[in-house]
Amino acid sequence: MSEELRAAIVQDDASGRVLMLGWMDEEALALTRSTGLVHFFSRSRQQLWQKGETSGHHLHVVEVVLDCDEDAVLVRAQADGPTCHDGSTSCFTPWLWRKILQREEHNAPDSYVASSLTKGTAFLARKVGEEAVETAVASLSESDERFVSEAADLWFHLLMLLRSRGMDPADLEDELRRREK
Ligand SMILES: [Zn+2]
Repeated sequence: MSEELRAAIVQDDASGRVLMLGWMDEEALALTRSTGLVHFFSRSRQQLWQKGETSGHHLHVVEVVLDCDEDAVLVRAQADGPTCHDGSTSCFTPWLWRKILQREEHNAPDSYVASSLTKGTAFLARKVGEEAVETAVASLSESDERFVSEAADLWFHLLMLLRSRGMDPADLEDELRRREK
């Protein structure tokens, strides 16, 4: 591989969220422009690939911009589905969310996340209700340590509840951003 690669940042056109970073050679850049679908050059496999070629989660180009010295590419795009291979909207996703997806995928018999997700939305909805009450009570009458512990339980279970409905923390961010207008 003699040709230089450019770092390519893909940004969601609607939300502005950074979805992923990939690498483009001249061919990947040309195909991204000509087909309207984002292509990369894989450094590990040393070959061209089209985002979504196996997952079906393509990235549809809205705009391709090179930076000032033309060694980086910014692609604004619309995503067909989760951009990250782990099922997240973005590759740059919060630590706790990534952990939840990993536990779900590994599905170990002793995993609380995996068993909770198997029990489903009704189970998690009840847990969120319980943890919300415990958090409220702790905030009024207990130590910072106890309050943080209950709030962490609430947050953790709320994320799993989102997951059980096939949603993502990015959906909450998008909703809050819409309200800001
Ligand atoms: Zn990823």
